Amino acid sequence: MELTIIKGDGIGPEIMDVTLELLKAVGADFTYDVVAAGEGAIGTHGDTLPAETLASIDRTGLALKGPLSTPSGGGYTSVNVRLRKHFDLYANVRPAKTLVPGGRFEGVDLVLFRENVEGLYSGDERWEEVDGHPHGRGILTASNSRAGMLRFVDYSYRAAIAMGRKRVTLVHKANIMKALSGIFLEAGLEVADRYKGVIETDTLIADDCGQKLVRWPERFDAIVTTNLLGDILSDVAAGTVGGLGLAPGANMGDKACVFEAVHGSAPDIAGKLLANPTALLLSAAMLLDHVGWKDKGDAIRRAVVSAIEAGERTRDIGGALNTFGFMQAVLARL
Ligand code: NAD
Repeated sequence: MELTIIKGDGIGPEIMDVTLELLKAVGADFTYDVVAAGEGAIGTHGDTLPAETLASIDRTGLALKGPLSTPSGGGYTSVNVRLRKHFDLYANVRPAKTLVPGGRFEGVDLVLFRENVEGLYSGDERWEEVDGHPHGRGILTASNSRAGMLRFVDYSYRAAIAMGRKRVTLVHKANIMKALSGIFLEAGLEVADRYKGVIETDTLIADDCGQKLVRWPERFDAIVTTNLLGDILSDVAAGTVGGLGLAPGANMGDKACVFEAVHGSAPDIAGKLLANPTALLLSAAMLLDHVGWKDKGDAIRRAVVSAIEAGERTRDIGGALNTFGFMQAVLARL
């Protein structure tokens, strides 16, 4: 099976090398097509998202991706957003699960579904001059379509049911953004009706969801929400189970799927071998489940949890191991 690999920027190459080593150790027999994207691709290809990278994912339909840097406030458009739009990866799946007891919260086991190609991440933006200042006003045009919301929510319900989830919480901001968020809520409740009796549904306004997540994260089962809200709330959820170093994700479409950690390129620790590879490892485990190699995915998950339980941890979760030290600890358990 062919798999596209994008090592990414910052800590990307460090954690991807570890992940590929562990995929080899569980006998995941992929043929890799390693391609460039992000900041690093500017020097080699003159483009943050080279045509050959798109062609590779077009062919394989499957990618494991490291984080890609995006400059804030200006510069080039997010490569992540371009990738999600190009391949119509309309559902972003981000589980947050307590891996080992003893953290701030016990028994957290939720999955957040985030709409991934519409809404406030449209990229349709411009500056307007006001009183001679070129950045006098920032303008964003965002839309959510009924068809897009129905497709995304229906996917989320089907996936939540397949994962054995019992309750979906539709998270919105329709009290303020009556059309943009209202259309999501409308579609959400319509889809909820289709699955009545199979899975429960409740609704929450996003700000309330934020405070409840940091008080009682264990009460959530499946959260289904829109693009920006999902991006923020999935980081909050990750924070309740030990932080971004442990949070995996998947971008799902009908023609391609791209698996990646929730976190970014962590420029503050890049090149220092301080990164926790767990989030990308667990993303790779999700990829293995997706292609039907659940036993291999389980093997990675078991080895990671066992290493962390034994206190073999990277610095972000209170340990002293560097990235490769943690890899050795996981390898020893496979
Ligand atoms: P970040 O996720 O890179 O880092 C936030 C904090 O978490 C930092 O303190 C970092 O050191 C820590 N952290 C992140 N991953 C870690 C890991 N594996 N192990 C240990 N600590 C880890 O977020 P940021 O600093 O806001 O963004 C940096 C860059 O990443 C930006 O250019 C942003 O656009 C990009 N980004 C990319 C993606 C993606 O590729 N999917 C996602 C988010 C941010």
